Amino acid sequence: MPSTAHIRGLCREGRLKDALHILFTANNTCVESSAYLHLLQACIDKKALAEAYRKHGFPQEAFTLFYQMQRTAVQPDHFTFSAILPVCSSVASLKYGLQIHGRILRCGFQSNVVVMSTLMDMYSKCGSMDNAREVFVKMPQRDVVAWNAIIAGYEQHGLVENALMTFKKMQLTGIEPNSATFASVLPVCAKMGDLKLTMEIHQIIIKSGFLRDAVVVTSLIDTYAKCGNIQEAHRLFDDMPERDMVSWTAIIAGHVHIGLVDKALDIFKQMQSAGVKPDTSTFASILPACAKLGALEQGTEIHRKVLESGFLSDIIVTALVDMYAKCGSIEKAFDLFEKIHHPNVISWNTIIAGHAMHGYSKDALSLLEQMKQSSSKLDHVSFVCVLFACSHAGLVEDGCKYFSQMSNSYCIMPTVDHYVCMVDLLGRAGYLEETLNFIIKMPITPGLVVWKCLLGVCRLHKNICLGVFVSRLLFEMDPKNAEAYVLISNIYAEAGMWGDAQNVRKLMKERGIIKKPGSSWIEVDKMIHAFCVGDKSHPQTEEIYAMLEKLSLEMKAAGYIPDTRSVLNDLEKEEKELLICHHSEKLAIAFGLLNTAPGTTIRVVKNLRVCVDCHTTTKFISKIVAREIVVRDANRFHHFKNGQCSCGDYW
Ligand code: ZN
Ligand code: ZN
Repeated sequence: MPSTAHIRGLCREGRLKDALHILFTANNTCVESSAYLHLLQACIDKKALAEAYRKHGFPQEAFTLFYQMQRTAVQPDHFTFSAILPVCSSVASLKYGLQIHGRILRCGFQSNVVVMSTLMDMYSKCGSMDNAREVFVKMPQRDVVAWNAIIAGYEQHGLVENALMTFKKMQLTGIEPNSATFASVLPVCAKMGDLKLTMEIHQIIIKSGFLRDAVVVTSLIDTYAKCGNIQEAHRLFDDMPERDMVSWTAIIAGHVHIGLVDKALDIFKQMQSAGVKPDTSTFASILPACAKLGALEQGTEIHRKVLESGFLSDIIVTALVDMYAKCGSIEKAFDLFEKIHHPNVISWNTIIAGHAMHGYSKDALSLLEQMKQSSSKLDHVSFVCVLFACSHAGLVEDGCKYFSQMSNSYCIMPTVDHYVCMVDLLGRAGYLEETLNFIIKMPITPGLVVWKCLLGVCRLHKNICLGVFVSRLLFEMDPKNAEAYVLISNIYAEAGMWGDAQNVRKLMKERGIIKKPGSSWIEVDKMIHAFCVGDKSHPQTEEIYAMLEKLSLEMKAAGYIPDTRSVLNDLEKEEKELLICHHSEKLAIAFGLLNTAPGTTIRVVKNLRVCVDCHTTTKFISKIVAREIVVRDANRFHHFKNGQCSCGDYW
């Protein structure tokens, strides 16, 4: 005779199958309802191990158990429902959810706030906010848990206005919010990027005494960061009596979010000095910082830490792939990509984008073909990556093929990103008239980016006439856009039309438009050294300039002729040469040569596109010093080796 105690014992030992077997084969009337509940709970606990439950089908057993229970004299109580509903949520089964809802009503639990709140949560997690709302509306009484369930539902479904309105209604009814309420309302503020609203909620948090709740404060830090007020986020973080991994991760992610990546890396170091162990979410936040900065040494160290921690999930490996690709090591990225057990669409897109960025266009295309054969579905990003690859290698035919394949075979409507790639592809290849026709026929408004891309193409092909037309269009659309002014003045200057070039510069000055300053940086011994044009602030300035002088002489002896076309004004030849000689990437390369062992690869990142002269110079330098020099500019990677660049001078 199976007793409740016996079943409990088996559950405790994790022998669920045995427990289930006994329960199913026994005369059920002699088992108490609590035994079912116990077993149900054990099945659910098991589900936390996502793998295990997929393999062993525990949710299915939980449902079987639930229905088995109904055929007996044992009546489900509110504990049973609170236990079975999360199983529906975990497998997103609306079908079972609706059946259990019916059962709840038949058993007369419609006034039970706990059961009803769990029911709402289930509907929301199964994707049916309409059902959740209906349950909420019909509830005779609502406590804070019920309000939280509906607010959280709206928030998770991105229905931010509804979430906010419901929160306001809740306050009017006099129900006091708790930490779970704030955990749902703060992400709403973050999604809306509404700083004023965040400050209002902050006040409510203070008034309701939750400023000592670490979870609430961490969420507040995250929200302030996402709304752009990193100072306030930092102040809250500094004021916390105890900071755990979650709060450290929030402040790191906040800095990464607003682009202060070097600061984020600093905080990551502080976190480790404080003895707080990072987890998956910390790694997922910090790796993009290394990627953005091109900080390969620090990224590699974080990779080591990931290995030590054992958090080697597919998501983290994908973040590592992205980091290695963006830090210039595509081989390492590919090695890791091959280790991903089930590459999802993000993993595939990351590795395709990596190859495209490095100019390995054929590989990018072949990866896309492999992706088609995999279980991952191609999305619009996959096509952006592959079109980008085509445009940077002049693969016009392939590009056009993929562009039509996208909507015809994959039902993905092209967005402005795809059109920009196509304009770039056709334009670079010299089909200017076709490009213009293509833009005119676009079913969506071309917008700034498309026209700016065409202006870049005009510069490449020295088409002054079209360039002037496009620049006027751009000035009208956005009179404050510095890039358009710089591009057209370059077009004039390169054609020797100094008067026109200077007029554009004058116009820029009058309108108060400032060109984004060029800067380059290099990582040496886990430290980032940044340089701007003509920079003399670095402690090693003298050595750097002496190195450039020496290289310049060797280059001239090797046949180098300075290309001064990127210098806008009509200065004397020598002055111009001096100006381009001190571009930021050259300073960074010289610094790298001085501070790294002979033969090591030099890796430099530049925030803008590399200019023609720097490109030529770097080719010469790579040969003179016999080093590989990898430069990541705003567009792509250049691998300089033995006097050649991987881009084939096509960038
Ligand atoms: Zn340059
Ligand atoms: Zn290149």
